[in-house]
Amino acid sequence: MSPSTESGSIDWEYAPAPESEAIGRVKDRYLPFIDGKFIEGGGDDLVTINPGRGEPLSTVSTVDEADLDTAVRAARRAYEGPWSKLSGAERGKYLFRIARGIAERSRELAVLESLDNGKPIKETRDFDVPTAAQHFFYHAGWADKLGHLGYGPDPRPLGVAGQVIPWNFPLLMAAWKIGPALAAGNTVVIKPAETTPLSALVLAEIIADADLPPGVVNVVTGAGDIGAALVGHPGLDKVAFTGSTAVGKQIQQTLAGTGRKLTLELGGKGANIVFADAAIDQAVEGIVNGIFFNSGQVCCAGSRLLVQEPIAEELITRLIERTETLRVGDPLDKNTDVGAINSRAQWNKITELTQAGIDEGAQVWRSSCPLPDKGFFVSPTIFTGATQTMRIAREEIFGPVLSVITFRTPDEALAKANNSPYGLSAGVWTEKGSRAMAMAARLQAGVIWDNTWNKFDPASPFGGYQESGFGREGGPAGLAAYLDTDDEAVIK
Ligand code: NDP
Repeated sequence: MSPSTESGSIDWEYAPAPESEAIGRVKDRYLPFIDGKFIEGGGDDLVTINPGRGEPLSTVSTVDEADLDTAVRAARRAYEGPWSKLSGAERGKYLFRIARGIAERSRELAVLESLDNGKPIKETRDFDVPTAAQHFFYHAGWADKLGHLGYGPDPRPLGVAGQVIPWNFPLLMAAWKIGPALAAGNTVVIKPAETTPLSALVLAEIIADADLPPGVVNVVTGAGDIGAALVGHPGLDKVAFTGSTAVGKQIQQTLAGTGRKLTLELGGKGANIVFADAAIDQAVEGIVNGIFFNSGQVCCAGSRLLVQEPIAEELITRLIERTETLRVGDPLDKNTDVGAINSRAQWNKITELTQAGIDEGAQVWRSSCPLPDKGFFVSPTIFTGATQTMRIAREEIFGPVLSVITFRTPDEALAKANNSPYGLSAGVWTEKGSRAMAMAARLQAGVIWDNTWNKFDPASPFGGYQESGFGREGGPAGLAAYLDTDDEAVIK
């Protein structure tokens, strides 16, 4: 847009730059993918909502328990049949094909994901979709090198993996779970979240186009009851779940005593710790990225900012100035920084917890960026004067809401950071490398970033402690979760 001078002053506001919705090729109706075919499921249809507008986007046929059973049996046949007879190099070729298929349909997937999830197109285009492809590329490379992982000369797959994924990174979570499972030689039955099933079903099309043998990957659709039925299915050898701690605990109970391998990647309340010697502008960028990326709907979000007292005032001032520049709005607009919240239910949860912060006496600041009239939007919100006992400092809000707490000494920062039932992510901002290392050694979190936040790589293990779950995803450790590492060959 050319700057307007009508009123005498120059208006440098961005003009809307929406990506075309047509690129997403949204169909009226989607079907689950079982045994190499898209089939009508026996369950009730579900309507998936476009959170950017609060309106229906498409209809999805869901599975019933009989379909689920068919999917698990198909995965077993595929495992015992063609898939386990392939060499690692041949398996790797299929993974490379899937990676290329994602890359070829990347623009469509970016738009579709933005429409179904509500996240900004610049995130789906520059992060979710390329990182999903990267996970298949990375794991393709391991498929014929499993003997070099350090788990014995010829580690064996487990068999059939049941996987349940959430709505915050729908395509990426599917890639993150399917990639290592297939590279290790397993077959898969995966259930996407009911609010975001579309990208996993397009991934199923890519998998079908890659000519994977029928049954190697099955995508079953439905709500939480289908997730529960899947993880409890006796035909599985391994369960992998990403989602809430409450459901993770239920799954742990279901699997207790079955001998099946389980990995749980659950919630978090990441502590982002800024020392007085930190480079403030970089820290501000890291804090903004840590809490407003994907509207804070990120398990490893830096939702607790711990700032050293001497710089607290200056840091908060600069943080507010920077946050005020974020554009909240149409997820398909390429200028949008903060998109929609995924569902009305999640919007309600964020609103309730934000109100709890106000009621408990923390000072609230909200961005003045106007919100769209329709859809599920929340203004970027910063609470100062938060204390350890407040709900906003303890519970996972899973929204664009930051709680700021101050500290004086490194020990105090550590005590406050570790005072959480979770233990997924943490970050340290300091110019002093030795301090960063000393903090990292004592922070109880699975992922610790030094002078940065939200850096992900398929080669890097990701996972948590305590109520954030157990097991690792990514890198050799992530592959171990899909291999029989108790095998005698490994022990030798
Ligand atoms: P859930 O844990 O309910 O959803 C995650 C996945 O599990 C979805 O596919 C869901 O299906 C499925 N599911 C639901 N119930 C069961 C069950 N009993 N057994 C097996 N699978 C099940 O998360 P919510 O969507 O309810 O979100 C609630 C809170 O959880 C959020 O506010 C956030 O704090 C946290 N969360 C954390 C995530 C993370 O990455 N760690 C991701 C998502 C949420 P369906 O969607 O169809 O119900």
